[in-house]
Amino acid sequence: TASDSRTASSPQASIARLRAEIESHNFRYYVQDEPSVSDAEYDALMRELIALETAHPELVTAESPTQRVGAAPLAAFGSVTHAVPMLSLGNAFEAEDVLEFDKRVTDTLRSAGLLGPEDETDYFCELKLDGLAISLRYEKGLLVQAATRGDGQTGEDVTSNIRTIKSIPLKLKGAAPDVLEVRGEVLMFRADFDRLNQAQGERGEKIFVNPRNAAAGSLRQLDPRITAQRSLRFFAYSWGEVHGLPRTQHGEYEEPAPGTRQTSTLPRDTHGAMLAWLGDLGLPINVKHNRLVRGAAGLLGFYEEVGKLRASLPYDIDGVVYKVDALPAQKVLGFVARAPRFALAHKFPAEEATTELLDIEVQV
Ligand code: NAD
Repeated sequence: TASDSRTASSPQASIARLRAEIESHNFRYYVQDEPSVSDAEYDALMRELIALETAHPELVTAESPTQRVGAAPLAAFGSVTHAVPMLSLGNAFEAEDVLEFDKRVTDTLRSAGLLGPEDETDYFCELKLDGLAISLRYEKGLLVQAATRGDGQTGEDVTSNIRTIKSIPLKLKGAAPDVLEVRGEVLMFRADFDRLNQAQGERGEKIFVNPRNAAAGSLRQLDPRITAQRSLRFFAYSWGEVHGLPRTQHGEYEEPAPGTRQTSTLPRDTHGAMLAWLGDLGLPINVKHNRLVRGAAGLLGFYEEVGKLRASLPYDIDGVVYKVDALPAQKVLGFVARAPRFALAHKFPAEEATTELLDIEVQV
């Protein structure tokens, strides 16, 4: 097999080969919206590269796909520099990885004095929506720009396309800050995906591999009239730059509860409360499935629960995401090269992705 031949060659050669292979998959997935391998196959290559780089840290370079996010944006779109970089997420595939994550987080927070020696960490749990990440920039409450993640620093300007998505407010409700960057996922529901592929087939046009690629392909259109004909949805799950909060004397903006610790620039001190605030401004939040839990047992309970309802959701998810809820704790935990240390994506087994890809291969 490929990996047998890899183990036979030098670590340098194996690393170089894996990087080239992953880069080409990144290009097909992020730029062309047309992956040629399943996510499980891609994840396996990535894990093999991470294992080699962990064993040979001297071979890690800043250009390695393990250190970078996504792929460079396509020049056909205008480019947007993100005020706050858009990162990826660390991945876990096994319960063991989740226990390790919780232990690392909890130990750090206890030594920083943010948790008592017996206290457990509170986590905000979300579904890992399988779409594409988008940053929406609102100034004085008005949508002024929307960008893809791109390579995390620079994305593509897709403002005209984003404006065609009906659930994305062009104007925020109530008292909005001077600048608010909303981060979230654009996705296509399965029923809309089936309808789209059927129509594409009837017209003899491109059949999309899965809803994720259909969403990305529909949003990254140079002609927004095409995007307008596609049913795209949006859920907000985070934020980038936030500043110039509305004043309190008019009563539009509520102070944090007494005794809660407030970070200097944000109106709320937990991830969950920030999302509720975004919801109050009129942004779509996945309220139905977001949940606050305590400790590793809470995380694994959420994973199991979501695993059971996964098939009945109207959209694809490829896992769940755990985020340390307290924002001061997130700040202490900080970031590694391409992902925050305070969050983790716990992936579901990926049999489905492979089946979908095979089905399409049979059809065309
Ligand atoms: P990722 O999917 O592993 O995790 C980060 C992304 O998760 C964010 O950018 C955001 O878009 C998304 N997300 C969804 N719900 C979220 C939530 N509630 N909170 C925060 N983020 C949320 O990101 P990545 O770095 O783009 O990942 C690589 C993954 O993409 C791989 O694991 C692989 O499955 C897939 N991929 C596949 C191929 C292929 O050729 N098949 C190529 C490249 C990447």
